[in-house]
Amino acid sequence: MDYTPLRMDASQPPLRVNLYSDTQTRPTPAMKAAMLAAEVGDEQFGWDPTTNLLQERMAALMGKEAALFLPSGTMCNQIAIATHCRPGDEILAHETAHILTSEGGAVGAITGAQITGLRGARGQFDADTLRAAIRPKSRYAPPQTLLEIEQTANSGGGAVWKVETINQLCAIAHENGMSTHMDGARLMNACVAAGVAPKDMVAGMDSLWLDFTKGLGTGVGAVLVGSHEFIGAAWRWKQRLGGSMRQSGMLAAGCIHALDHHIDRLADDHANAKRLARGLAQVPGIIPEEPETNLVFFNTEGTGMTAAQLSDRARAQGVAVSTNGRYRVRACTHLDITSAMIDDAVQAIGAVVNAT
Ligand SMILES: *Cc1c(COP(=O)(O)O)cnc(C)c1O
Repeated sequence: MDYTPLRMDASQPPLRVNLYSDTQTRPTPAMKAAMLAAEVGDEQFGWDPTTNLLQERMAALMGKEAALFLPSGTMCNQIAIATHCRPGDEILAHETAHILTSEGGAVGAITGAQITGLRGARGQFDADTLRAAIRPKSRYAPPQTLLEIEQTANSGGGAVWKVETINQLCAIAHENGMSTHMDGARLMNACVAAGVAPKDMVAGMDSLWLDFTKGLGTGVGAVLVGSHEFIGAAWRWKQRLGGSMRQSGMLAAGCIHALDHHIDRLADDHANAKRLARGLAQVPGIIPEEPETNLVFFNTEGTGMTAAQLSDRARAQGVAVSTNGRYRVRACTHLDITSAMIDDAVQAIGAVVNAT
């Protein structure tokens, strides 16, 4: 990911349409009210009733035994990896996986494990690719202890892994003595788009997490889910890394509000993503990838502009998008984006292209 930063300096006009990321959402008034009303206690001791409720709800939703509230998705990934793996272990994941490209080398820095990036279209790989990456066990080979799957595949265009594929890959991993972990930053987008219940989507996973700060619209929070044993071991890493909190119930209440009110509406984000792709397909030189969820990637090469140039010029028109490669732009739909804003963005980008 070579993101261009979102420019908010005084030289820029006010932002009308912020498609830069689905992390750009702001808590709604109803979410803020729920946060203010939260019952709280000291989370580090297990005394925060609202955090406990969020953890119980997440374990039940995902069909697992236990859950752990953490400040961020990155910390969920790193704690899960530290819990599953030992120094020197090998993790198999897609070559564009967030754990490989976007977590500051934390897998090497914290666990001391290595990641082998597998190839495949749309951020995904198949059973043959996984089988080919599994080495015969020997004293030369690193112990392969973890399979990681990112649902949805962010750099893969927000693509949804089919539940059948996930189950097949998890079975292969388990047969080979590996654990399975899902980076579920946008897991609920995948479940809504595919019409698959979360517990069915993650049945093969030993651990998984969901981000509340993407399409679900909170300011802070992610929840890691797994067995009692796994979450017990993860607690030590939470403590070690400074992820233990105090009156975190105010944050957890925002997440509970999101579970109750912001899941079904992800379908609106997906419809807006399709609307955006359809609109952009009419702009000469722009080739959108087919969106499956709330991420819209498009190629700018035919416009004569790089992704960074298009993004700069769109920003000057009050429309923010991000970049992912020389000619690849990423636009995200989310809670704060309406269909009228999509039409506005298409017009602005069309004007930018026509002006070159
Ligand atoms: C955003 C994201 C993360 C990291 O989550 P944070 O809450 O920002 O730390 C991990 N994986 C994927 C696929 C993401 O999109």
